[in-house]
Amino acid sequence: MSETIFAKIARGEVPADILYEDADVVAFRDVSPQAPTHVLVIPRKPLATLNDALPEDAELLGKLLLAAAKVAAAEGIAESGYRTVINCNAGAGQTVFHLHVHLLGGRPLQWPPG
Ligand code: AMP
Repeated sequence: MSETIFAKIARGEVPADILYEDADVVAFRDVSPQAPTHVLVIPRKPLATLNDALPEDAELLGKLLLAAAKVAAAEGIAESGYRTVINCNAGAGQTVFHLHVHLLGGRPLQWPPG
């Protein structure tokens, strides 16, 4: 896959408001927040989309969700509620082709989404 800005954020080459990071994942605030809390959780491994994840990535995918839950707790939205979203490919609205989980919360969220 071609290099994305998220890969550069993961390497510390582009600034971001990082809330959590470990050896496998990085979480940072979305520059165009759609809710009071809008955080992106990415793997350091540059998977373009969820379609590119392999069986060997199963643990990594779990780590993304666990990191999202950890950030949600730190943001104080674990109990009020939050949503995690993975947009896969253009038809679902994916614009940055480095796998990421959106963590959204801090306001009522409608269901179903548009
Ligand atoms: P998606 O449409 O699912 O690919 O989501 C991409 C998200 O990345 C959008 O919500 C953008 O606002 C966000 N975004 C793009 N560039 C940056 C950046 N440099 N730092 C933080 N968020 C970004």
